[in-house]
Amino acid sequence: MDRIKNIAVVAHDNCKEELLDFIACNREAMIPHNLIATGTTGRLVESLLAEGVARGQEPKRVQRLKSGPLGGDQQLGAMISDGKVDVLIFFWDPMEPQPHDVDVKALLRLAVLYNIPTASNRSSAEFLISSAYFDHEFCIKPGRYFEYADRALK
Ligand code: PGA
Repeated sequence: MDRIKNIAVVAHDNCKEELLDFIACNREAMIPHNLIATGTTGRLVESLLAEGVARGQEPKRVQRLKSGPLGGDQQLGAMISDGKVDVLIFFWDPMEPQPHDVDVKALLRLAVLYNIPTASNRSSAEFLISSAYFDHEFCIKPGRYFEYADRALK
């Protein structure tokens, strides 16, 4: 993956405040990268990043997908399988079932399958953003699952 990364950010409703605070605290580090988000998360992130933008300056655009429960998690999963997401920061709610639990599970599964660096909470996100790789090129090893498509079948 390139130095400038495609970073997907998602947070369930009870975790949105935490994600926004994380982005606010790491604004300088996040801004150079391309941000992708599920619908509501993206709207909030965009307005957060618009705060403090000098007059006449373009605010940072976030690629907004559908809202998670309306298919956004699946869109993100498809983007991962197409190699269009380099990093996933997904603050999912461990205390509340979601109407789209199956989509959440599918997204997290694809992130593991495609060996995408993934942060599921504030601490792991802080570790990720502090990594030397965050601003440098990094080669994702495809992992053993990719032999699957060539498996021998009778
Ligand atoms: P949202 O979706 O950003 O549209 O709230 C988050 C999610 O995946 O549940």
